[in-house]
Amino acid sequence: MKTSKKILALILVLVMAVAIYGCGSGGNADQASQPAPESSNGGSAAAEQTEEGKEASDPGQEDGMSETMKKIKESGKIIWGTNAAFPPFEMRKGDEVIGVDAEIAAKIAEKLGVELEVVDMDFDGLINALNANQIDFIGAGFTIKPDREEQVLFTDTYFKAVQTIIVQEGNTEITGATDLEGKTIGVQSGTTGDFVAEEYTEDVVRFGNALEAAIDLKNGRLDAVIVDDLPAKLIVEENPGLVLLDEKAADDEEYALAVRKEAVDLKDIINEVLAELKAGGQIDEWVEEYSFLD
Ligand code: GLN
Repeated sequence: MKTSKKILALILVLVMAVAIYGCGSGGNADQASQPAPESSNGGSAAAEQTEEGKEASDPGQEDGMSETMKKIKESGKIIWGTNAAFPPFEMRKGDEVIGVDAEIAAKIAEKLGVELEVVDMDFDGLINALNANQIDFIGAGFTIKPDREEQVLFTDTYFKAVQTIIVQEGNTEITGATDLEGKTIGVQSGTTGDFVAEEYTEDVVRFGNALEAAIDLKNGRLDAVIVDDLPAKLIVEENPGLVLLDEKAADDEEYALAVRKEAVDLKDIINEVLAELKAGGQIDEWVEEYSFLD
């Protein structure tokens, strides 16, 4: 009995020693190096411990603030990425970018107490620009889509839209969505209109913006253009000879802003701004205000 108790005690001491040694070396390793971006082994529990250990041993770091938020606070500015050829959401007025998204972007900067910088770029480059840290958020009449959700973090939605079909006035061949089968369809590259067009035809012609597509439609080089309803309405109003079909090209979609996946705190702040704006009916007012003809 006595001997077996002794052995048991010895085993316990050994087990504890191994455990303490394990913890100690783990802790030292964590302090010496930045957390690995991805751990291929060790499991999630180990990863969590590493995170906790790091925070506890690094009191100088702002609590739980995302890299994006730290960058915004340090630089005193937030960078909005858009494609300013999408009225009434964003368009150019001289050097300035104006529109509904511009108003929302200004409110976000105001809430954060920082300057707003805008980068006007190709629509189909926005996601890459975001993930390459060239911009801090996307505001571009940007539709929530499952494949985009894999690459960015969407905020709450702020506007409902639908893909519409523009044709030449008097076109008797295309009077509804099914008539688009196999036709030459113009779109803005990388937009939901682009993806919808692909469902109807292999002959999709891609442009930098929908207005360029509309000009080609006017000139008879395209059979139809597919684009979001509000920009479509403005294009048709400004371009005699083009009309909108009543039938839509796809189901409704919703616009949101988007941030990097890690920027959860920025997303939360943007959601607060959106909630305030929506509650006050402000977004609809801006839609009205910027749906003007020049
Ligand atoms: N809503 C469409 C999309 O997200 C088009 C946006 C745009 O052209 N700015 O793809």
